Amino acid sequence: MTDDSAQNPGSEAGRDFIRDIVAADLASGKTKGVVTRFPPEPNGYLHLGHAKSICLNFGIAEEFGGRCHLRFDDTNPTKEEQEYIDAIQRDVKWLGFDWGKHLHYASDYFEQLYDWAVSLIKTGKAYVDDQTQDEIRLTRGTLTEAGQNSPFRNRSVEENLDLFARMRAGEFPNGARVLRAKIDMGSGNINLRDPVLYRILHAHHPRTGEAWKIYPSYDFAHGQSDAIEHITHSICTLEFEDHRPLYDWCLENLPVPSRPHQYEFARLNVTYTLLSKRVLTELVRGNHVTGWDDPRMPTLAGLQRRGIPADALRDFVKRIGVAKANSTVDLGMFDFSVRETLNKTAPRRMAVLHPLKVVIENYPEGESEELDAINHPDDPSQGSRKIPFGRELFIEQDDFMEDPPKKFFRMAPGREVRLRYGYFITCKEAVKNARGNVVELRCTYDPATRGGNAPDGRKVKATIHWVAAAQAVPAEVRVYDNLFSDPSPDAANFVSQLNPKSLEVVNAMLEPALASENFGGAYQFERQGYFCRDKDSVPGKSVFNRTVGLRDSYAKISASG
Ligand code: ATP
Ligand code: MG
Repeated sequence: MTDDSAQNPGSEAGRDFIRDIVAADLASGKTKGVVTRFPPEPNGYLHLGHAKSICLNFGIAEEFGGRCHLRFDDTNPTKEEQEYIDAIQRDVKWLGFDWGKHLHYASDYFEQLYDWAVSLIKTGKAYVDDQTQDEIRLTRGTLTEAGQNSPFRNRSVEENLDLFARMRAGEFPNGARVLRAKIDMGSGNINLRDPVLYRILHAHHPRTGEAWKIYPSYDFAHGQSDAIEHITHSICTLEFEDHRPLYDWCLENLPVPSRPHQYEFARLNVTYTLLSKRVLTELVRGNHVTGWDDPRMPTLAGLQRRGIPADALRDFVKRIGVAKANSTVDLGMFDFSVRETLNKTAPRRMAVLHPLKVVIENYPEGESEELDAINHPDDPSQGSRKIPFGRELFIEQDDFMEDPPKKFFRMAPGREVRLRYGYFITCKEAVKNARGNVVELRCTYDPATRGGNAPDGRKVKATIHWVAAAQAVPAEVRVYDNLFSDPSPDAANFVSQLNPKSLEVVNAMLEPALASENFGGAYQFERQGYFCRDKDSVPGKSVFNRTVGLRDSYAKISASG
């Protein structure tokens, strides 16, 4: 599926219902410019789902000549950390976006938000409730039943002001009281049944330290922060749709400096993947992965470490489009974007992941030569390099079969194949160990076929990759598979669905250029896929990650490769 309209019916390429709203608001003069924001809570690293939101918010600002703020929604100090604040900024920049001077924090507005809460108390629209969290939950009612008024709902303005000030001063323990909006316990929308605006939290805040003992709820902080920053289009995911009436209620009942509007779009879900910071945090804390940047993680840090270019992420987000109904995208679509992007630029190299030794019996011992290998078949500007060739080589174990079926055209006893950039070789004999496993192939080469063609015009049916044993560089290659075995993993029970084969570590042999180069991007290892150097590499020991295989696992591996 490569067409935007397939995911997002009725939209032109690059257009979606949110962009249509923005365009219409600009055309009608409802708003003069467009200001969006990306509002992460710094309670974990950003993931693929956030990339969709980032590309949407920053993308709209770019396309319509507006601006996009990065605003940390840092209202819950028990879960938020400076490490996450730093990581989020790194990851947004890596994706290619720039908030300029508009780096904001909800905590910058704590004093203003407090004043507005006081103003709601003064107009009789908020009250301090002494009920416990459980009591509040139990009296909220259900979808079919109205809630019950709190016994503290009709406190005097003076008493509310006094108690709220003492909440702020830290006189009461966590959970002793909350500030609630006085809206309607009978509302059909549960979010309007006197929602909590402030709770007591004695906790260290990464930015405000110990200054605050009360913290605003998401619902009280978000819209007002939008208004303070003159956000025009406050774009969020569908689960906030039912919060929109509360978003509007707060703005209508407070002397805010601007009037933003909230719009909701469908969050990104991807097969074999869980996009939830809670789950990702548990994966890290439970040591199911090596960290937030484990290349199996759907975090931007993990994807980056796996060698996924930011361009591929942006391409993927563009292809899936923006819709109003939730759906799940096939992980194969993401891999498609990654391959498309890397195919255009990744330098080609040769590496053998599961080495099988080949001895060329008619090649003189102790000698070697250099062959020319092109770096990119479609990009002559990448030039070529020299690769060594000698009497002993490594080829891929599964490029040989002792007793091949009809459609297997690669190495087999008596068969001639082409070595990529090299010679034709013919297999004379397979040497086995005591257990009967093939450990070495005895071959001959035809010196007249240098460069890959026979002067007599004879053909071979397969070309295989290889590396020269004498100069080969051993490396650890980490081959990743899906983190979960189930196509739609269950966020409540994900540990049992972890794929035990999500990481295969292989001892590979690389052509020597791969050890000496200092290239940070992904290579194509010919016939294998895309691979990048991992940060665990040290001088003398290379570690590579497989970014993605060359074609998806459903596609038949072609015989000639
Ligand atoms: P999570 O569910 O992973 O905990 P969150 O929504 O709590 O994510 P926030 O930091 O609050 O995380 O998200 C910042 C912004 O990113 C929000 O506007 C949110 O709607 C958006 N977002 C989060 N997850 C997705 C997703 N899967 N697809 C699209 N947007 C997302
Ligand atoms: Mg959130």
